[in-house]
Amino acid sequence: MQDTKIIVTSALPYVHGIPHLGNLVGSVLPADVYFKYLKMANKDAIFICGSDQHGTPIELEAIKQGIEPQEFADSMHKKIKSIFEKYECTFTYYGKTHTEENKETTYEFFDALDKNGYIVEKDDMQAYCEIDKRFLVDRLIEGTCPYCGGKARGDQCDSCGRLLEPTQLIDPHCTICGKNEITFKKVKNLAIALDKLEAPVLEFIEKNSKNWSKNAANKATSFIKTEGLRPRDITRNMKWGFPVMKEGFKNQVFYVWFDAVLGYIGITKEWNKEKWKEYWLGNARLIQFMGKDNIEFHTIMFPAMLIGARKGYTMPAVIKASEYLTSKTLKFSKSNGIGLNLEKAIEIMDADYWRFALMYLYPESSDTAFSIPIMNEIVNSIMNDKIGNLVNRVMVLIKRSGIELNSYGKGKYSSIDSIQEKYIDYFEKINLKAALQQVIAMAELGNQIMSSEEPWKIKDKAKLSEVLSALSKVVYSCAIMLWPFTPNASKNILAYYGINDEPKIEQLKGLPSLAIENGSEIKPIFRKMGEEQIKALRAFE
Ligand SMILES: [Zn+2]
Ligand SMILES: [Zn+2]
Repeated sequence: MQDTKIIVTSALPYVHGIPHLGNLVGSVLPADVYFKYLKMANKDAIFICGSDQHGTPIELEAIKQGIEPQEFADSMHKKIKSIFEKYECTFTYYGKTHTEENKETTYEFFDALDKNGYIVEKDDMQAYCEIDKRFLVDRLIEGTCPYCGGKARGDQCDSCGRLLEPTQLIDPHCTICGKNEITFKKVKNLAIALDKLEAPVLEFIEKNSKNWSKNAANKATSFIKTEGLRPRDITRNMKWGFPVMKEGFKNQVFYVWFDAVLGYIGITKEWNKEKWKEYWLGNARLIQFMGKDNIEFHTIMFPAMLIGARKGYTMPAVIKASEYLTSKTLKFSKSNGIGLNLEKAIEIMDADYWRFALMYLYPESSDTAFSIPIMNEIVNSIMNDKIGNLVNRVMVLIKRSGIELNSYGKGKYSSIDSIQEKYIDYFEKINLKAALQQVIAMAELGNQIMSSEEPWKIKDKAKLSEVLSALSKVVYSCAIMLWPFTPNASKNILAYYGINDEPKIEQLKGLPSLAIENGSEIKPIFRKMGEEQIKALRAFE
């Protein structure tokens, strides 16, 4: 039987600014870690992500810079793509939403939804700034969220993630001039009739949400059960975006969210004109990673569009929404460019350090705090002391002893196997933080063997061979298990075993002998954080 195909997606980064560490750990990084595991386990998987290029913030930023929105959006796309590459993210394809392929997908879905009776005309009250003399769509209006009391934009609350209508905002103001001389005027938009799709969407949620993160499952159900679904706008009175072809709406474009969620399909088409069908129109398992602010788009709107279009597209199977990585001391901001964004962070520390530390802190079920002392603790005590030093000491001991390694006494060291099994089991359940904990557990086991057996004191050759073989097995296991998290460190350790290809899970069973040349130096796998690095990070406090 052929293995089920798997599509892994990460929420598409919005490209009006450089993403920050919270954006990385919320979506792209866990998706990448999981995808690297799937490849290691020989699964037929693709990893699709890309730049979300439409919407008002991009149009506004382009106006500010005196260039066309497309020029701005494409140059940001290139920049962000190259930044993700620096973090060792290995997408099958990192595309973008402003393409012919995605336009074709958007029109296909619009036409199908329209034909099936799910597109309705809707009168909206749109905010209008009397000072700037323009409509304030989406992010151009801000105020207080009626649900949680946090700061919210005209389309969504950043604090609780609820999608909003601008008329719901308490004490709204214009984000261009900062004043509150706002009136509401009637405009016509096209909307998707989510109310008509409520029953099948609820059925979809109830059938599938046992495989979702708790926040996604709970929020999805509560969105429907508290108020029911209402028609949601899919068009906007602006120029930047895909033009609407329907009579009466030809001066409008599709609302950014509509073609952004379809971007997963459009980007897969952009990757491969033929193969995309095997995934999206075949029998694939769709696994979607995102931050909690994207839950409504992925649990309600995207499924509603897939159901309403009746084209047989792959439905989401797993929805993994993270909570937020927060920092009281460091500025993470994406929009104003002054925060510790991904471009700046990678200049201070290499990809492995960020990947490991962020996944260690992965806000899987609650908001998690990030700070310089926390980063320092993870890098120094866990990466350097527990893992790096162990690898180094074991390699040096084996090299110096010149002893033949053979059997490591399976019975005595059976916990090596059980840690490996747990690691695989956690990955199969997409429990990524727990999988990383197993790598640390493996290193801790190595450190225990070191201190209990004191191999440097052992005179008996058979005994020494057994202990060093066990330690070698621990280090070799760490090397493979580190691959999804810290690919560079993994490569460097595997090179000691003469392995230069990407590792595979089945290799965990073996134990190759060392291939360290005589005279070659054993180099540290990780280093402690230096004063320079701490100083560089402190600049963002
Ligand atoms: Zn709110
Ligand atoms: Zn204004």
